[in-house]
Amino acid sequence: MVIVRNSVITLHTLLKKRYFHFLCSAWLAISFLSMAHMSHAQPNPDIKLVLQITVDGLRADLLNRYQASFVEGGFQYLQQNGTVYANAHYLHANTETIVGHTTLSTGAHPAMHGMVGNVMLDKAAGELTYNIEDPDAPLLPTREDVISGEQVDPTQNLARTKGRSPKAILVPTFADGLVAFYGGKPKVFGVSGKDRGAVAMAGHSGKAFWYSTDNGDFITSRYYYDKYPNWVKAWNAQRKAEKFSGGKWALSAAKSSYLLADQDDRPYEVDLRGYGRTFPHQFGGENSKLLYTQLLVSPVGDQLIADFAKTLIDSENLGKNTVPDYLSVSFSSVDATNHFFGPSSLENEEVVRQLDRTLADLFNFVDKSVGLKHTLIVLSADHGMADLPEYMSELGYAAGRLDPDEIVATANKIGQQLGIDEVVHFFFRPYLYLNDDKIAAAKLNHVDVEQAIANALTDFEGINLAVSTSKLAIEQGGPLHEQVRHNHHQARSGDIYVIQEPYWFLFDEGPIAAMHGSPWRYDTHVPIMFAGGDIKANKIHRLVHPIDVAPTITSFLGLSPPAAAQGNPLVEVLE
Ligand SMILES: [Zn+2]
Repeated sequence: MVIVRNSVITLHTLLKKRYFHFLCSAWLAISFLSMAHMSHAQPNPDIKLVLQITVDGLRADLLNRYQASFVEGGFQYLQQNGTVYANAHYLHANTETIVGHTTLSTGAHPAMHGMVGNVMLDKAAGELTYNIEDPDAPLLPTREDVISGEQVDPTQNLARTKGRSPKAILVPTFADGLVAFYGGKPKVFGVSGKDRGAVAMAGHSGKAFWYSTDNGDFITSRYYYDKYPNWVKAWNAQRKAEKFSGGKWALSAAKSSYLLADQDDRPYEVDLRGYGRTFPHQFGGENSKLLYTQLLVSPVGDQLIADFAKTLIDSENLGKNTVPDYLSVSFSSVDATNHFFGPSSLENEEVVRQLDRTLADLFNFVDKSVGLKHTLIVLSADHGMADLPEYMSELGYAAGRLDPDEIVATANKIGQQLGIDEVVHFFFRPYLYLNDDKIAAAKLNHVDVEQAIANALTDFEGINLAVSTSKLAIEQGGPLHEQVRHNHHQARSGDIYVIQEPYWFLFDEGPIAAMHGSPWRYDTHVPIMFAGGDIKANKIHRLVHPIDVAPTITSFLGLSPPAAAQGNPLVEVLE
């Protein structure tokens, strides 16, 4: 509308100068062009801040289950003022955190952006590696007296160093494109409870901060900074996380007000050594090695992330620039809570209820600081979540857990039949990596070995399909093959992709209870919501995909899509 209005003003002004005939046709031409363009995106000069929220592990249907408990201004702000996509599904097979976040930020499949799993093969080193590990970008310490917390994330335990950077992300992100488009002017930040949730979204040009489970500080690496900005030092000096030591996570309302009130004490939930299976959960003391992990497994984690994000908005003057700034906030407590108690637990209901309040508070802050009208808010999730196999068995489903050692033993047995001793190099779900040297030494065809093992694993109870990834290039296959293909990167993926049956897990009982990472619908289903500017309230039931998110943001702002984006702009956001 702006362009048409300007044209009219120009016409009136110039009419006085009697250039009527020329201008009449020029005006028509301009108006026509404007109208033609209006059906597409216009650069949106009113947007000062792009706030991209990712709720780690928020399966889309959980919002429907807890809808009645939401307050004004949180999820409801997006639902009542924004365009909501009710059927958004990832198209890749390995629905894990780094994979989903990078798909959201780049608009590309993992086959293209290269982040095929939380754990990937480093071909040069011949070892498995943690996704954003970078020995050249060591962590920037915040204090001298760091107590090293106990690491319960098994993927983090595979990292050889504490260095982190976005170097392994092979293609540009939306935020990278924003910075390039506006000549370096936009300020770009990523904040999360997890390193990978921050780094994947900040891209190569932005700055990332994440929560440390060692000490509750927000930390970064030398990729981003040589020393901490003063406002970060000041935030960390307040030791906001430590104040919860010795405290409790209690329900915020009467137990009877919860839909899942009777889903608290379930024998298959995991007690994080003293944290307990039931409310109230007891936080560790000051010197506890698990205190800062426990805070993440409670609403406190998300509250700390939001508090840090608000301080960042204020201190870095986000939304006060001549061009749009970008802030990604990835909330981690829903995922963490799901892993220990499952997505159909009372803990899950409480943590989502509290996240809703945290979002309402954050949106209220953004409204006062930038104005919600001037803020494009995009909310999604990096993956969904499976319910616990034990819970699903109780309900009559066929469900179970697979022992990774048995998978490896089965594969090695096939190898032995072919004359190779210990053919498996590594197994880290979902990929099985074979020992290329041994296969070559035995003068066997690699694809034939892969296929023989894949056939044997497909017959295994609890495994739906094992795919020889070498065969993907030459065979069409079915929908599951397509999801594995979207996940396949030549240098990083393994030789055989193992897909469990629905509600089966590729790990045994252990330190965590529930898992995501499958290609099944409960793991691929995530919310996608857009609000701000002139976006209308709308609920769309058409099937869409998280690869569409980055191209939609770029269309909304009038930029080209990120270089490797494979999704399409969601037209309802742009109309
Ligand atoms: Zn995740």
